[in-house]
Amino acid sequence: HERVLDITLRYFEEANQILGVSYDLTRIRQLEKLQKDFVGNVSHELKTPVTSLIGFTETLLDGAKDDPETLTAFLKIMQKDAYRLESLIQEIIQLSKSADINYHIQTLNVKQVLQQLLADYTPIIQEKNLAVTLEGDPELTFTTKVEVFYPICKNLIENAINYSLPNGQINIQFAEKNGLVFQVQDFGIGIEKEEQTRIFERFYRVDKARARNSGGTGLGLAIVKDYVEILGGSIHVDSHLGVGSTFYVYLPVN
Ligand code: ADP
Repeated sequence: HERVLDITLRYFEEANQILGVSYDLTRIRQLEKLQKDFVGNVSHELKTPVTSLIGFTETLLDGAKDDPETLTAFLKIMQKDAYRLESLIQEIIQLSKSADINYHIQTLNVKQVLQQLLADYTPIIQEKNLAVTLEGDPELTFTTKVEVFYPICKNLIENAINYSLPNGQINIQFAEKNGLVFQVQDFGIGIEKEEQTRIFERFYRVDKARARNSGGTGLGLAIVKDYVEILGGSIHVDSHLGVGSTFYVYLPVN
């Protein structure tokens, strides 16, 4: 990395000495760049569905609405754009407030939390005919910041479901090990080695067109990574293209 230094020199006449102070601005500049990139990405991501919404409303108002079939088809696309905007905005808020949120610490039953989260996905699990197993001590509890713990689990489960193929299998396991360890395994599309570190970057998606169609925002794993760090834990992925992926999370005792 290029280093950015700010150096101030001051001459003290009485002592005939020069005092030099140097500030290392490298980290500040890196953060500024990250922030700039993020804002650029956000604007781009928000613009796409908005442009589409404007285009379709204009076409409908220009007369396309008089054909019932076109009307329904366009409304469906517009609904998808609106949902996409909704999830983008929600995730951007999640990312931005993570630093100054007022956390609630609670003792949770891990199995119950995971079961609750899975229940939200029952329709898509049934639609894709996925078999989901959940293994771990049903009595195990974990004391943690709920506002970050839930999204970590939710995003990993959601990805396992989204990137599974029909009739696939998902295994979720958890255990106590100086804190909590859990893993989410799927036998879906998998991720190439070169992509495996990049997927945790904000807005990064392996296959952009496909991800956009599936409603993905590319923010889920960035949120997971941020939140795991807030809890002082770690995350890593083991994945093979066309075979499947396992995400491992370790969260230390609060
Ligand atoms: P998205 O909203 O697109 O799912 P994420 O940040 O959650 O965004 O994930 C980033 C990218 O990583 C995804 O677009 C996808 O390409 C890849 N990915 C994440 N989880 C999985 C998984 N379980 N299997 C295969 N690819 C995955």
